[in-house]
Amino acid sequence: MTTVESRPGTDALGMPSLTPPLTVPAPPKVGRLVDQFERGLDAPICLTWELTYACNLSCVHCLSSSGKRDPRELSTEQCKAIIDELQRMQVFYVNIGGGEPTVRPDFWELVDYATDHQVGVKFSTNGLRITPEVAQRLAASDYVDVQISLDGADAEVNDAVRGPGSFDMAVRALENLADAGFKDAKISVVMTRHNVAQLDEFKALADRYGATLRITRLRPSGRGADVWDDLHPLPEQQRELYEWLVAHGDRVLTGDSFFHLSAFAESGTGGGLPGLNLCGAGRVVCLIDPIGDVYACPFAIHENFLAGNITTDGGFQEIWQRSDLFTELREPQSAGACASCNHYDACRGGCMAAKFFTGLPLDGPDPECVQGYGESLLAGERSKPTANKDHSRGVPLTLMTRPPSRDCDENPLAGFMPTTATGCSSSGCS
Ligand code: SF4
Ligand code: SF4
Repeated sequence: MTTVESRPGTDALGMPSLTPPLTVPAPPKVGRLVDQFERGLDAPICLTWELTYACNLSCVHCLSSSGKRDPRELSTEQCKAIIDELQRMQVFYVNIGGGEPTVRPDFWELVDYATDHQVGVKFSTNGLRITPEVAQRLAASDYVDVQISLDGADAEVNDAVRGPGSFDMAVRALENLADAGFKDAKISVVMTRHNVAQLDEFKALADRYGATLRITRLRPSGRGADVWDDLHPLPEQQRELYEWLVAHGDRVLTGDSFFHLSAFAESGTGGGLPGLNLCGAGRVVCLIDPIGDVYACPFAIHENFLAGNITTDGGFQEIWQRSDLFTELREPQSAGACASCNHYDACRGGCMAAKFFTGLPLDGPDPECVQGYGESLLAGERSKPTANKDHSRGVPLTLMTRPPSRDCDENPLAGFMPTTATGCSSSGCS
């Protein structure tokens, strides 16, 4: 058997190697990266770790339905054991999120532990804890990246989905980072029908703070399922978004999340958006949730996509490399109803999670299929799955119709922080 020579655990490109390790059958002469990724890697390229479901905000589209802390949340020692395992697997970095991860009292301890163990950290935050002092500390590290969530280029658009005061809080965090000399923070925007027209403004905002704009697709996951019909970009806005990305994409990150839009490119031209154009769920992407459950994708928090629990099923490596679900997801998938589409190579039928949570067949078109097939399917009979995890605080969430309840009505961070720090410190109470 021919083997690929590489550093243990990595391939010739320095990426995590294919399963099984070390004796990797050589791919056909000119193997495409996408074909290798389709069969899965020894370690995920994009590992999201939601450290807590506790959050000071109540964003209407929160993909993890965050709000209240789960009492079964992993302890500091359990988190460190996971980091040790990630180091052994040569996972280069983790995307830490939540909830609002910085509300965990051990958050900075875990960040330091990860970077001390060669696992880089990119964390997403609404800005709550990015004080001038924290910004200084972050600026001194080469291994920590910060992503500030912002879903409108002004307070009106942003706060309608993220809650009153959240725009000012995020901008304050960006200012603190810039003042501290932090290089290249990310501004992370979920695209909705209310902010597509603000793309240039988002870019200008990022430029103003020496940051990079990152835009991602709104998925109907978590609480996003409840507002997706009202918020997802309209068909003409999908085209606008695609054209903007074609014009500006080289300076904007997307996490490859708009590959369904690649079907706008003339088929056979090789055009479209750069990226793998592949659903990476369970192949190169996965999620660890606050209690150690491992899901195929951060946008697929549902028992159908649960591969196992780190504390009871043999650890992360065992689940990643050998769980039934991930093994199945790495098998060739049927193109189903998309097989006859000329754009299949560009779009691959779109996002599994978007189909699942809108009640569409997984082997059919994406609900936002740019050929319009999704719309007709959405208009037909379908049954949407119910979320099996909801950590919302019981506060009725509405979109621009009534202000959210004051954060201090029910403190989601109870048991987390000293009383003086929890009080009304969050922007929702300002
Ligand atoms: S399910 Fe959707 S969001 Fe998740 S990896 Fe696949 S395409 Fe990406
Ligand atoms: S029919 Fe399927 S492959 Fe074709 S554009 Fe729509 S989602 Fe993509």
